Amino acid sequence: MQKIEMKTPLVEMDGDEMTRVLWKIIKDELILPYIDLKSEYYDLGLENRNATDDQVTVDSANANKKYGVAVKCATITPNAARMEEYDLKEMWKSPNGTIRAILDGTVFRAPITVKGIEPYVRSWKKPITIARHAYGDVYKNTEMIIREPGKAELVFTDKDGKETRETIFDFKGPGVLQGMHNLNSSIESFARSCFNYALDTKQELWFATKDTISKKYDHTFKDIYQEIFDKEYKEKFEKVGISYFYTLIDDAVARVMKSEGGFIWACKNYDGDVMSDMISSAFGSLAMMTSVLVSPDGCYEYEAAHGTVQRHYYKYLKGEETSTNSVATIFAWTGALRKRGELDGISELQEYADRMEKAVLQTIESGRMTKDLALITTLEDVTVLNSEDFIKEIRKTFESLQA
Ligand code: NAP
Ligand code: MG
Repeated sequence: MQKIEMKTPLVEMDGDEMTRVLWKIIKDELILPYIDLKSEYYDLGLENRNATDDQVTVDSANANKKYGVAVKCATITPNAARMEEYDLKEMWKSPNGTIRAILDGTVFRAPITVKGIEPYVRSWKKPITIARHAYGDVYKNTEMIIREPGKAELVFTDKDGKETRETIFDFKGPGVLQGMHNLNSSIESFARSCFNYALDTKQELWFATKDTISKKYDHTFKDIYQEIFDKEYKEKFEKVGISYFYTLIDDAVARVMKSEGGFIWACKNYDGDVMSDMISSAFGSLAMMTSVLVSPDGCYEYEAAHGTVQRHYYKYLKGEETSTNSVATIFAWTGALRKRGELDGISELQEYADRMEKAVLQTIESGRMTKDLALITTLEDVTVLNSEDFIKEIRKTFESLQA
């Protein structure tokens, strides 16, 4: 069989631990036999990040900007334990944070739904995609512990030194204090990424904040969304037959629970952090969640939503058998290859991606799956496979689907 040719390279960001092990098997079994893979390879494994003073992460993000599409393996975000384990020069920052800062993107997370893994919420028939704003708010806050009585104020000093003040609170005793910010430019990027993604995937877009309580901060998010929608997207949405709708965050939560799914839910940074874990667990498993970072100028970075599955990796190192779910990582590859095909006009790449995803789902639906899914499936007669055999079974299904 002839391999599919590519035009533009795919930016490939390799990673750590168990997902790095899966990465190689996925390539060997599911990608390289079928595609003449053109990729620009960046090793984001922690050892190489340390050796390059993390320059490799920056280079990979710039390559993503240059070529448009990247696929990323899960990576370790170092903490004190990792400093020792890997003998690190520095506690390097989260690669995802670095990449996000360079691409200025929004993260979209969607569950991969399959027969036999039923959502815990009975009304959900279609996936719900969470779009998380990835800048500012409580993630870039300044905090203070107040130990004695005193007045707390918000002070803004303009470039001429003129001060504007608002009293936050007159403390009579101990308490806590927090200051945070966001930028119109970042909120605008967030809004455009969401509107574009809704058009791209032909799904309705919901956005919610607490603007009734936060009359300036959250209200600004609401206003920017509405302004950009009215000016730039209203007609495009009408043409495609989708809608944009704003509501209060508490109303949104109630509606999500009663909905059928099949829409994008845009969330402020903190809401998106919390709600994406809720949505992924309610749909069944963290191992079945894909994630794509979309920049306002149309760059894409695909990855699995889960981490490097450290516990399984330590078993693997001891020579024990593992049953790690590779579905989200495979879908990161198919997502990236499909997008590459779309941008370069290579329909074979898009068909390959469709067929590979179908092969993954059919394999699971036929009862062959990894342990995490076997524990929650409603199917009977299930065969639990190890990490490698699961990928090999997918290859068999894929071959059986060939013309
Ligand atoms: P994790 O890799 O998400 O795994 C947590 C647990 O969830 C696993 O121990 C496993 O449960 C289950 N799980 C997750 N993915 C699975 C899969 N594909 N197949 C089967 N089970 C799966 O989180 P972690 O182990 O706490 O974090 C490990 C490292 O990942 C950390 O260094 C963290 O910095 C990094 N991380 C990276 C990213 C990223 O690159 N995007 C995201 C999150 C975390 P059982 O052990 O019960 O089987
Ligand atoms: Mg979280």
